[in-house]
Amino acid sequence: MQGDDDRPLGFEEAPVHFASGSQKARVTTELWARRIGCPSCGAPTLDPLPNNSPVGDLRCPACREEYELKSTKGRFGPRVADGAYATMIQRLAARNNPHLMLLSYDPFSREATDLFVVPKHFFVLDLIEERKPLAPTARRAGWIGCNINLSRVPQSGRIILLRDRQWMSRESIRAQWDSTVFLRDRTLEARGWLLAVMKAVEAIGRPSFNLEDVYAAESRLQAIFPHNRNVRPKIRQQLQVLRDQGYLEFVGRGAYRLGAPDALLAGALPGARRGA
Ligand SMILES: [Zn+2]
Repeated sequence: MQGDDDRPLGFEEAPVHFASGSQKARVTTELWARRIGCPSCGAPTLDPLPNNSPVGDLRCPACREEYELKSTKGRFGPRVADGAYATMIQRLAARNNPHLMLLSYDPFSREATDLFVVPKHFFVLDLIEERKPLAPTARRAGWIGCNINLSRVPQSGRIILLRDRQWMSRESIRAQWDSTVFLRDRTLEARGWLLAVMKAVEAIGRPSFNLEDVYAAESRLQAIFPHNRNVRPKIRQQLQVLRDQGYLEFVGRGAYRLGAPDALLAGALPGARRGA
């Protein structure tokens, strides 16, 4: 299967013994992910970071981007548990925040089935949910973790590498990745607005739409940004930025059309790209 593609599906046996199954799974999946390479620059392998390093698990030897790997048997739900809430909030604005790599695997065949990456520039406050403090009886009593709410990530923020055991072409992965990096240089607040409007545009569910369709998300946006009193002008401003970045086109009189690569809209089908 996957003939000439050197990216593996199957896991290798971890070379050492572990006290717990979860520790073993972590090492096994990390070993696997190192052989997948870097979705940001295309380097063929990733390096491990020292155990318990404060941020990521893996780092690209070429572009130095860091990745945090989370894996699950079966599929991820809408929420993924992550580290301490306060740390996560602090990390949002940091440049060395890792990209989040999410791996689903089949424990019986010991194969990866799905893999996608949420680039760090898609992380905004709206995604991070505070969990209840751990019970007084817990080992880390009072500790407050967080969930990442994946349902709030726009489609363009899910860079699909592997779907149903099929690898996306490296070319389509890079194209999708490159089309999102404009977010990287923006402030956390600016990204918050852009992502919320991208999500609103996505919710319309059509490639062609008009301003009124986007305004339908006004109350949702007002809830995310309660202190803003100019939600509609803010929406128009984001649409202009998104046009300048090629995410959408203005076709006149308040009408818009999504102009992003088809890969973004269709969830990165192999080779799917328009007008590139
Ligand atoms: Zn790289």
